[in-house]
Amino acid sequence: MAELRPPIESGAPDPMPYMHPVMVKNYGKWVFHSHPKPGVLYHRAESGDEIWTVKAGTQRQMDHYTIRELADIADQYGDGFVRFTARSNIEYMVADGSKVEPLIKALNDKGYPIGGTANSVSMIAHTQGWLHCDIPGTDASGVVKALMDELYDDFVKCEMPNRVKLSTSCCEINCGGQADIAIIVQHTKPPKINHDLVANVCERPSVVARCPVAAIRPALVNGKPSLEVDEKKCICCGACFPPCPPMQINDPEHSKIAIWVGGKNSNARSKPTFHKLVAAGLPNNAPRWPEVGEVVKKILATYKADGKPWERMIDWIDRIGWPAFFEKTGLPFTKYHIDNWRGGRYNLNASAHIRF
Ligand code: SF4
Ligand code: SF4
Repeated sequence: MAELRPPIESGAPDPMPYMHPVMVKNYGKWVFHSHPKPGVLYHRAESGDEIWTVKAGTQRQMDHYTIRELADIADQYGDGFVRFTARSNIEYMVADGSKVEPLIKALNDKGYPIGGTANSVSMIAHTQGWLHCDIPGTDASGVVKALMDELYDDFVKCEMPNRVKLSTSCCEINCGGQADIAIIVQHTKPPKINHDLVANVCERPSVVARCPVAAIRPALVNGKPSLEVDEKKCICCGACFPPCPPMQINDPEHSKIAIWVGGKNSNARSKPTFHKLVAAGLPNNAPRWPEVGEVVKKILATYKADGKPWERMIDWIDRIGWPAFFEKTGLPFTKYHIDNWRGGRYNLNASAHIRF
């Protein structure tokens, strides 16, 4: 039989060549794990082999000098094997427990905190921001760096009722995730259209179809084919901007930040949940976003003080109720918190048909 052509153009590479040899040898045969201290995990295999994982926080956007430094630490103090997590942490695997403390010291000496495991606040999962994406309303990576500087103690200590996952998104519609606390950019004004460019740049039917509330119509402006937006219908989602950059929606004054809480992907103890809006209209105040940090810290401090052991953020809120959540955190409750999608059938454009 002809040899199958290995995929070359996409997909995750085979992890085995990069994996610690003890992990390759015991693949699928681990029988016990524990959490000796914040940022350190211990695993034991059927064969009796052991491995320790040390998790260090990074600044997320790394230059290659930083990556070389992290790799040098792996060679000098670890076993030469690392992996990056989805939250931009770096994990070092060592098969000898006596290497753990020197490795932690070497990382701390270079300024990398050890933590993010179990009931700590983990590193923020975030979207690409200004560096890689064409539509962000703010810089996700910058928000992450600024916030994690403030949440340093909560990352290196395990003092929360349960794990806390945070996420940020630099637009409202695309790659933002569910999280215990999610920080999401929020546009508050309809797009401004540059009619001179629309006909050259935008495929108008695609733009019309993209709008979730059917607010965009084709129009002739100054004799040129263009588009118009029914501003009463527009929910300022920003979905029209990617297929039509002349529909500019980012705005230094009117692009705000909202905070959502109670999202959960796991099935542990309670079912997965969608997060819900708790604060809106916070200033998009680069480079440190202090107003956002203040609200996040307020929510975390209340959850830490009031949550029972093992309660995730949403379990805690379900127990005390949403009115108590707003009372205890001191966040104002406004009419913008009320939509429960009951009217979605009527006010969302749920069909793929193009409307003219
Ligand atoms: S959240 Fe939106 S703006 Fe940010 S990287 Fe994803 S698609 Fe781009
Ligand atoms: S796609 Fe979103 S931002 Fe654009 S017009 Fe429709 S509702 Fe408004």
